[in-house]
Amino acid sequence: MTEKDIPGQSELKNVFRQMVNEQRVPHAMLLHGNEGGSSLALALYLVQCLMCENPQGGDPCEECPECTKTQSFVHPDVHYIFPVNGNKTVKKPEHRHSDSFMTEWRETLSENPYLSLIEWCQAIDIENKQGFIGEAESAALRKKLALRSFEGGYRVFIIWHADKMNDSFANKILKNLEEPTEKTLFVLVSENPSKLLPTIISRVQIFREDHLEEEDLCQFLAQRAEISEAEARNIAFRAEGNIAHAMKELNHADDPWLEEFKSWMRMAYSRDVAGLYRWSEKMARRSRDSQKQFCSSALKVLDRCYRMGWMQISIPMEGEEAKFFKDFSPFINTANIAGFLDLLEETSFHIERNVNEKIVWFDTSISAIRMIHAGKKSVATA
Ligand SMILES: [Zn+2]
Repeated sequence: MTEKDIPGQSELKNVFRQMVNEQRVPHAMLLHGNEGGSSLALALYLVQCLMCENPQGGDPCEECPECTKTQSFVHPDVHYIFPVNGNKTVKKPEHRHSDSFMTEWRETLSENPYLSLIEWCQAIDIENKQGFIGEAESAALRKKLALRSFEGGYRVFIIWHADKMNDSFANKILKNLEEPTEKTLFVLVSENPSKLLPTIISRVQIFREDHLEEEDLCQFLAQRAEISEAEARNIAFRAEGNIAHAMKELNHADDPWLEEFKSWMRMAYSRDVAGLYRWSEKMARRSRDSQKQFCSSALKVLDRCYRMGWMQISIPMEGEEAKFFKDFSPFINTANIAGFLDLLEETSFHIERNVNEKIVWFDTSISAIRMIHAGKKSVATA
């Protein structure tokens, strides 16, 4: 991971290089990232700057043995901790820690360091469960901390989606943040640091990821893939600063939530109550994170429809996606947009709070019928 592998964030990259140069990297850091942003990539960059034997102008050389090891995620002094759960091959609770998933971690990350938590859960086949950092991880960490650094230099623990740690792990890590060991660094990465214990927050130095400019993302995409500048511009525009979305589009992966949203809206439009009931059951079986992801994706679709239809803002799109937005956007207008946004935010709020999800989704679906028809009526009378 070098400077050019991360779009924008020039300030933070400078700060990291300087800290490494002056050998004053804090022993406990929190990288507060944006949703779909580059917080993990930034952590990987910092670590490679720190490990490289032969930095070029502060940037990692990408050639020395340390860089090679860091880049292939096999450096013995760089440890990764991330949310996991049991799957078909990892069954025992005591095996539910990051080391059991290192092969998948290396594979997925080599392909895309901008992956989302949902994509990660899919990669390790725990899609319908929550990923978490728990007891088994505490035990694994304890063992690692008992050892010295393999190569005599720094050892680093990157904790991705640190807010997914449970109390057991939080207490374990807290002890280490309070009583730092020499040359042992903890880099917590989180898009939701408000979910971390205040005692942890008070022990870390916080670095905030900057907003990503569309122009920076556009340049990054154009360099990374063989696409025209116009195409890169369109993808960057649609991604709204979310690199994970842009990367997905670059790989021509359809947004799975868009299909889900379309079929939901089709049923609401045709007042298919039985279909919506089955859909609600299916939705409730997904993990809470997935359900919340659906809400935020649906919010974006609705917002885009409103901007296209009612405010007549042109948004570059192609193929099937363009057709859907063109056909559907007239139904999203002043008669229902505010209601729709409130509804989905409320749904997301209830899911977060462990309310019976099937009931929540069915209620939401019934409200969606009313709203979509209010939008339709407003078109007919306009
Ligand atoms: Zn190097």
